[in-house]
Amino acid sequence: MIGPEEYADRIARATAAMQDRSIDCLALSAGSDLTYLCGYDAMPLERITLLVIGTYGPPTLVVPELEAPRLEMPDGLVELRAWRDGEDMIKVVAAELRRACPPAPIIAVSERMWAGTLLSVQDAFRHARFVPAGRVMEPLRVVKSPVELDMLQAAAAAVDRVVSAYSDVEWVGRTEADVAREISGLLRDAGHARVNFVIVASGPNAASPHHTAGARVIEPGDAIVVDVGGTLGGYCSDITRVVCVGEPGGDVARAYGNLRAAQEAAVAHVHPGVSAESVDAVARAGLAETGWGDAFIHRTGHGIGMDEHEAPYIVAGNNSPLETGMCFSIEPGIYVPGVFGLRLEDIVAVTDEGVEPLNTAAHDLIHV
Ligand code: ZN
Ligand code: ZN
Repeated sequence: MIGPEEYADRIARATAAMQDRSIDCLALSAGSDLTYLCGYDAMPLERITLLVIGTYGPPTLVVPELEAPRLEMPDGLVELRAWRDGEDMIKVVAAELRRACPPAPIIAVSERMWAGTLLSVQDAFRHARFVPAGRVMEPLRVVKSPVELDMLQAAAAAVDRVVSAYSDVEWVGRTEADVAREISGLLRDAGHARVNFVIVASGPNAASPHHTAGARVIEPGDAIVVDVGGTLGGYCSDITRVVCVGEPGGDVARAYGNLRAAQEAAVAHVHPGVSAESVDAVARAGLAETGWGDAFIHRTGHGIGMDEHEAPYIVAGNNSPLETGMCFSIEPGIYVPGVFGLRLEDIVAVTDEGVEPLNTAAHDLIHV
């Protein structure tokens, strides 16, 4: 559990980051940035919920009155400005921003604020300049606190238990969608409050990295990419393993050996101070050397925390150095359209010594 002191510290660090970047106001709508700062998991509704942290006055949460019974946050952390259906919510928000800011302010807004909301706020507040809240929030959230690392570790351990149950699942003769439903249940049984995705991509369908589990019936000889994740205690899990029905034919076994070596090399490269893109380059070089360079069609990984995809992105062009406390996936893949697909994914944390994988499920093909 994140305690009241950690929330207060997060708001203090956000305020300091705003000052460093000459930002007058932070305006966060429903989403993980808002939850990160005050603990409230607001519903993403057309009714506005907005956390306003400005130059003047205490942080204020503008909230639809009917949502007030759901509010859960430490006492005294923010002031409330409840508004009622029938009030002009844009006027309420504009008044709150005016109260909190100097004239002609720079306001950092949630990247995931609904465009309709932002357009209305911009219209009501023409002398403001709007910038993305990531400038303030990303540097805060990209390095996890010890409590957050514990929560990510708990989510990873839960999803590892789901993987260990794959050998008890009936695969052959069932549709991908049917198996995906069963795995969703396993995620919930393992403690996830929310199932974020269950990819069951069998045979040639696995060549599409984000395949939607569908009507294809799983057959003997299939290699099946199983990529699952959920949210537990507010933090996300995400793991990919490959299930094989009997012995896979063609290039699958050789390709999987090459993929596993590339993934392990990329994990071993992780260390404070190396760039995010160099981890991607190691995975890519491993697959290129074994002839699969063109078959690896996506970045190597993404950060994970309260969102299943967040900074740091492990991708060419991100030359930011890795720091102790960052958490991300390492998930190279091989995709041969019309034939097969493979991916191997673990979540890892950067430590002072190098790297600690949070997932510990075996890397072998799971034969069923
Ligand atoms: Zn995944
Ligand atoms: Zn992932």
